[in-house]
Amino acid sequence: MPPAHDLTPFREQELAPAGNPAVVRSADGRWYTVTGPCPNCHANSVFRVAYGVLGPYKGRWLGRRSEPEPHSGSILVYCQCGFPHPDRPSESPDTGCGAFWDVPVP
Ligand SMILES: [Zn+2]
Ligand SMILES: [Zn+2]
Repeated sequence: MPPAHDLTPFREQELAPAGNPAVVRSADGRWYTVTGPCPNCHANSVFRVAYGVLGPYKGRWLGRRSEPEPHSGSILVYCQCGFPHPDRPSESPDTGCGAFWDVPVP
């Protein structure tokens, strides 16, 4: 049983990864898929990034990274749990609680 989902108010925050996130590279080598629970709201998240690009292209509104960078040993994963967390900015294209965390690339 996964832990219950926490409907926390939206907040951008960097957290340590929860549990042991799995990183799988697609058969054609073009994608990484990261699977693991959100350390903040505990929703199971599945996150896909293009190989060779760090972070999602849609992360720009957050202003944390202005340009994609090559993978440097970890993938920045955003919560995309899909639950209606309160206080989420309406311009946010994300569907999660605002948490993000680094997952090491094997
Ligand atoms: Zn959530
Ligand atoms: Zn979350």
